[in-house]
Amino acid sequence: MSQYDFDLFTLGAGSGGVSASRRAGSYGARVAICEDNRIGGTCVHRGCVPKKLLVYGAHFRYDLEDAAGYGWSLSEPGFDWKKLQAAKDKELERLDGVYRRLLRDAGVQLVEGRGRLVDAHTVEVEGKRYTAGRILVATGSHPFRPEVPGIQHAITSDEALNLKELPRRIAIVGGGYIGVELAGLFNALGSKVVMVIRGDTVLRGFDDDIRSMLTQEMRKKGIDLRPETFIRDIEKRADGTLSLLTRMGDTLEVDVVLYATGRVPNTKGLGLAEVGVRLDERGAVVVDEGSRTDVESIYAVGDVTDRINLTPVAIAEGRAVAETLFHDNPTKVDHTGVASAVFSMPPVGTVGCTELEARERHGKVDVYVSNFRPMKHTLTGRDERTMMKVIVQRDSDRVLGFHMVGEDAPEIIQGLAVALKCGVTKKQLDTTVGIHPTAAEEFVTMRDKRSDPVEAAARELGHDAMQN
Ligand code: NDP
Repeated sequence: MSQYDFDLFTLGAGSGGVSASRRAGSYGARVAICEDNRIGGTCVHRGCVPKKLLVYGAHFRYDLEDAAGYGWSLSEPGFDWKKLQAAKDKELERLDGVYRRLLRDAGVQLVEGRGRLVDAHTVEVEGKRYTAGRILVATGSHPFRPEVPGIQHAITSDEALNLKELPRRIAIVGGGYIGVELAGLFNALGSKVVMVIRGDTVLRGFDDDIRSMLTQEMRKKGIDLRPETFIRDIEKRADGTLSLLTRMGDTLEVDVVLYATGRVPNTKGLGLAEVGVRLDERGAVVVDEGSRTDVESIYAVGDVTDRINLTPVAIAEGRAVAETLFHDNPTKVDHTGVASAVFSMPPVGTVGCTELEARERHGKVDVYVSNFRPMKHTLTGRDERTMMKVIVQRDSDRVLGFHMVGEDAPEIIQGLAVALKCGVTKKQLDTTVGIHPTAAEEFVTMRDKRSDPVEAAARELGHDAMQN
């Protein structure tokens, strides 16, 4: 009999914590997990799931408009935000139950309450102490709010998905994943959206063509995008209106201001540093390739480690820990070639290097770009375009990146992520027969390389030299 109450004690029942605990439980480990909120974490209750449901709901605005081009005549459609909220909340309630059942079926004991480390093998929850051979920290992250006077009047994505009323006017600060997704959502539902970003285009870190294309498409849909804009302060008027003063002296008047300015790991108050777990300068838990912290018995997965902050990555990290510790199957997660999607309107899907990264890391590259009006919109008349981009290493012919903006991009890129992981070459794409008529077939029919900017500049110089 082990000297500990449990083989594994997990702090946080989000994507990473639940996956590790269930997997460990399925291998016969004695597992407990603590949580002071609903089961499922940010993804299920404050992120991916409610967001995607609301995005589906919002997209009907465009579907209903587009139906006219196909012969449908509809009376003026009405939309009820409260009904959509209620339907979404009911589904989240169901998922909380599903997660509880999944834990129970795997033999995992749920301890309700907030956990704190006491030592390398002890966790305290609501005054009660539990010992465990291994401890897993999977406490996630929370939205970051910069220090701006009046920031207490701002909401974050935590509240945005649960607003009682649909805002008539909303300002969204930050042009990352969350900012663009929520801007598209509220704009489609009829709110007047002003988006305030520090740079020129949204989605820093994505391929530049994707960034400019999405920025353009968002503007076409009516989002008032203010580049290179910084909020100096936020003031609440007596009538509830929020007045945002920019550093350039402009005033923006809105009903809701939403900050989507990144997330920070949940490491405060957990007793981590006290037991010897090292944190980096952003407060994230430092782990090795196997998700082990500086303390041999303590592991950490998911957003709290600030590696790639995506649900499927946290799940993979959690499962790898369980495989390693409880199935004699040492497993490391490959953090390269992780695909991701942004559920903006239109959505983005991406996997592999951006063009800039490819040029910096892989020498000469060939770039194929296709920018077209999707077939569906030939009849709807909607001015929305799709863009696809393939980046290929010239010497090896290996594809380094696939990127897309346009309807179904996340669904299409998921398949291509498998191909990228398998080392697909451009020649193999060329010999793949497409499915017609689809947008995705474009990825296997691209023939024309985009002119290489460096070579074009060199040719230009050579031409000038000849003339001189
Ligand atoms: P991101 O890091 O994606 O974007 C943050 C944005 O806020 C950037 O535009 C950034 O500008 C801006 N910003 C940062 N600090 C300030 C500041 N002090 N003042 C003004 N602007 C600022 O964070 P998000 O909050 O959008 O999302 C957090 C994470 O959640 C994502 O990185 C992703 O990992 C995950 N996520 C994934 C989703 C998906 O997979 N579909 C959906 C939602 C979230 P700049 O670019 O100039 O730095």
